[in-house]
Amino acid sequence: MHIKKNDLVVVLSGRDKGRRGKVLEVQTGRSRVIVEGVNMVKRHVRAGSDPKAPQGGIIEVAAPIHISNVRIVCKHCNQPTNLSTKRMEDGKKTRICKKCKESIDK
Ligand SMILES: [Zn+2]
Repeated sequence: MHIKKNDLVVVLSGRDKGRRGKVLEVQTGRSRVIVEGVNMVKRHVRAGSDPKAPQGGIIEVAAPIHISNVRIVCKHCNQPTNLSTKRMEDGKKTRICKKCKESIDK
């Protein structure tokens, strides 16, 4: 899995197809990600159980979507892309956009 928190991704299928957003959370064990503004669902909350709705009521939250339904968007060439990894001179791994060959971890 190449996707990390705060990456920009585009949704490939479902009702939010084509929408872009920032990854808020990666659920590695379930192969799911939560993307800002994507797959919004209404949740009923009781008063006091959620700081976003202290009075209780209905809030909209982003529900997880499967990792195969998103693709990372390169911040250099601004296109959905695949990544490869490369080991840098200092021994650290970096993720490389296969389209423009730039590191997206910079
Ligand atoms: Zn690129």
